[in-house]
Amino acid sequence: MTQEELFKVLVAHCKEYGFIFPSSEIYDGLAAVYDYGQMGVQLKNNIKNYWWEAMTRLNENIVGIDSCVFMHPKTWVASGHVAAFNDPLIDNKDSKKRYRADVLIEDYLAKIEEKIDKEVAKGRKKFGDSFNEEQFRATNPNILRERAKYDEVHARYKAAEDANDLEAYRQIIIDCGIVCPISGTANWTDVRQFNLMFSTQGSTTGNSDDKLYLRPETAQGIFINYLNVQKTGRMKIPFGIAQIGKAFRNEIVARQFIFRMKEFEQMEMEFFVKPGTEMEWFRAWKENRMKWHVNMGMGAENYRFHDHEKLAHYANAATDIEFNFPFGFKELEGIHSRTDFDLGNHQSLSGKKIQYFDPETGESYVPYCVETSIGVDRMTLAVLSHAYTVEELEGGDSRVVLKIPAPLAPVKVAVMPLVKKDGLPEIAQKVVDLLKYDFSYQYDEKDSIGKRYRRQDAIGTPFCVTIDHDTVSDGCVTVRDRDSMTQERVRIEELRDMIEKKVSLTNLLKNL
Ligand code: ATP
Repeated sequence: MTQEELFKVLVAHCKEYGFIFPSSEIYDGLAAVYDYGQMGVQLKNNIKNYWWEAMTRLNENIVGIDSCVFMHPKTWVASGHVAAFNDPLIDNKDSKKRYRADVLIEDYLAKIEEKIDKEVAKGRKKFGDSFNEEQFRATNPNILRERAKYDEVHARYKAAEDANDLEAYRQIIIDCGIVCPISGTANWTDVRQFNLMFSTQGSTTGNSDDKLYLRPETAQGIFINYLNVQKTGRMKIPFGIAQIGKAFRNEIVARQFIFRMKEFEQMEMEFFVKPGTEMEWFRAWKENRMKWHVNMGMGAENYRFHDHEKLAHYANAATDIEFNFPFGFKELEGIHSRTDFDLGNHQSLSGKKIQYFDPETGESYVPYCVETSIGVDRMTLAVLSHAYTVEELEGGDSRVVLKIPAPLAPVKVAVMPLVKKDGLPEIAQKVVDLLKYDFSYQYDEKDSIGKRYRRQDAIGTPFCVTIDHDTVSDGCVTVRDRDSMTQERVRIEELRDMIEKKVSLTNLLKNL
């Protein structure tokens, strides 16, 4: 299966097993909006808990808040979002479809790279063992021609991006002969800037023309509460404020499932530090966040840092933690050193003094800030795409299993009486009563045991507990492990501790 096919299968699996549904499906859906089903919500909550506890419990100097989606409109002037949170858009006059100009160009460049890769694959096939890829890439005329084309377009694209030159974007699209995939024509409008913020009307300041924005990031809710938290919590620098909440962006290129949505959730932490110490903290948070990811056991090789060369005007350092998604390494989390940009601007625009008085040195200053920002939905996609496994079994059979890290699994244990009679369901009910206060569980007595195992594999349940006729006499049950499929007999009284060892969030946190 190609990575692309695998991704399609994963999307279908998420729907079939109650993880993620396209929103408003009965009305044919709503682009880039997804709902979480009965399994998805539990997975997402477990991810959020892991983050929240790691931030606010394991760090004495980090506290959490929950601020609102709506904020005073000036918030978004201060943050720079009103002026600069834009995407360059272009419309095709024939299909009336709208595209991101930068994405059209990036897709064009990706196609050139694909062509080069295909050429290399052909060479490999032709020359077999004697194939020298480096030499082939440096000498093959088709590759050289494509590479030159790529470099030329890429250079023009970067220049247009740096200069924010909308006409230059359009010219590249025309010169490269990029056409609308729907109409097939190059009948393009001019490129215009399009603000990504959703807005609605509200009379917060008594002015009926006021535009209220749906927050495009949760971070500003932290900045505007900086003084409240610092004072009421008697927080001493360095300290952090964490928050999990919804954010909204009017994303035009809405593809890749829950990777890019119009309504999504973020887990953000703003860490306030003394100016001049921010690089040290930036490095510390890079390391801390990578450890959090790798601790889940999805393979250190599937993560990498991507340091930004071109920095936003407010940042003096920035990096992404990228994950190896089915469509390649892509941003999962951003870590930014944001200087005093946000607090400084809120101070100027609100006229309120936002400063920290350092009792030890007697100085007052606007703190600098290091931010860690991760999307809950992207994290959910990372977990699901890594977990999805098709395994060939003996006898030509196969199984689909979600190898979700056990502490994050939506259902931790399934309890199954072998048959619906002979007192087995009653014992199974007792087992449920023993486990239900500690673990999310499912009770299943329908179909053969084999079929029941498959259903639990498909939602990633780490343990299946079967009550059989022997249980009546020996008080033991069969515990089947999701990943190894091995089975062992365990005394009912020992079940809780055995399951706890593998699925406990506490143990995951202790490893950090
Ligand atoms: P991208 O370049 O992919 O659009 P970004 O750099 O705009 O992302 P940030 O503003 O740094 O993203 O947001 C922090 C995190 O929020 C991202 O790393 C990502 O996990 C998540 N995120 C951002 N936009 C979306 C979206 N439209 N849908 C889902 N998650 C998102």
